[in-house]
Amino acid sequence: MSGRWSFLDSTDIKRPKLGSNATDIQQQNRALLVRLVRQYSGCSRAQLAKMSGLTQATVTKIVADLLAMDILQESGRQSAQRGRRATSLQVRSDRFLVLGIKLARTSFAAGVFDISGQLYEQVQGPLNPGRGPDRALRSIQKAAQKLKSLYPVRAVGVALPGPYFRRAGKIGLMTGFPGWEKVDLHAAFARMFALPVFLEHDAKAGALAEWYFGGHKPDEVLLYFLAGEGIGAGIISQQGVFVGSQGIAGEIGHMSIDYDGRPCSCGSRGCLERYCSSLALVADVQKELCRGAASCLKDVQPLTPQAVFGAAAQGDMLAQQAVDTAADYMGYGLANLVSAYDPGRIIIGQTMALGGQRLLSRVRAVLQQRLLPQVYTCLKVELSALPDAILSGAAATATDQILKDPAAFAGS
Ligand SMILES: [Zn+2]
Repeated sequence: MSGRWSFLDSTDIKRPKLGSNATDIQQQNRALLVRLVRQYSGCSRAQLAKMSGLTQATVTKIVADLLAMDILQESGRQSAQRGRRATSLQVRSDRFLVLGIKLARTSFAAGVFDISGQLYEQVQGPLNPGRGPDRALRSIQKAAQKLKSLYPVRAVGVALPGPYFRRAGKIGLMTGFPGWEKVDLHAAFARMFALPVFLEHDAKAGALAEWYFGGHKPDEVLLYFLAGEGIGAGIISQQGVFVGSQGIAGEIGHMSIDYDGRPCSCGSRGCLERYCSSLALVADVQKELCRGAASCLKDVQPLTPQAVFGAAAQGDMLAQQAVDTAADYMGYGLANLVSAYDPGRIIIGQTMALGGQRLLSRVRAVLQQRLLPQVYTCLKVELSALPDAILSGAAATATDQILKDPAAFAGS
């Protein structure tokens, strides 16, 4: 696609309501308590009140509802230091299974998850950019239907590459994969499964997975930095994903860090993903090899990010230089994001996280150099520990909706 992605006509956008009514708050509190019980399995109602900041009476009422819905169960007595012993709580994780689907530029994955984020079974396959979205959707349908026939899934969550205009249910641009911007993805996936379907931008899904399953503090402002073939960010703030007005908040792959820099297929120059994505890493090494640089990667075909990271770990100078340069640019991009969103924790995920401690220490060094000391010292920067945060996040997108209104998904 040439030029910048076209913004949708405002008439396409369903207007959100402005206020939060009592039902919204109740749903939010319910989802919060389930998340806490899942994270701190065996906790008591009193501990939940302390962790959530809700009153004991509110917690007691919500827990009673969740027990009636079979989402929580009481599991014996917790020994208390003084006074009467408290009943401990656990999530009935097998109660609502969901199907998570990750759509990437050249591949897809689908998996069945329970509401505690445990993966039951997964399938994946390649997608051919040249064959158009219809064929790609048929491949995904074939693989995912097989899983759906084996497990009683209640809803489907799909993680999509961005920029994803959430209110219109459409992708704005998938680099190198024309045609997707015309597809009504919500309608296509809903037809495919005859189940409630929830779509999310891949980096936001990753952030949701880290928030749900990463074991971090529930009230933390968390920034998930997706660094794969593309670059994106998902921000968790105030107990939810920060979305923006059209749903494209965090589309930072096309944030320019050099006004006269490398040209990008979006029509701009100096876009972050032209410097620190896995595609940029491999392209930089390739360029130096073509110039005749000495490296153990000289005869490696096809050249992959994994091969570059492997060579860097073995001391190959060219590979080390390429990893360090990508990490430096990642640091510059992240320094801008810290100014914009003020996260307490940054989690780097997907292919570039394979750069390990070498990449992480360079990123930290740039942040230390560029941020105010009082900002840097309060900031945690780490690599994702989840096997595939985007696929888990696709499932978490559906789980998040179920927890807000479990009765609507109870089925037969
Ligand atoms: Zn761009």
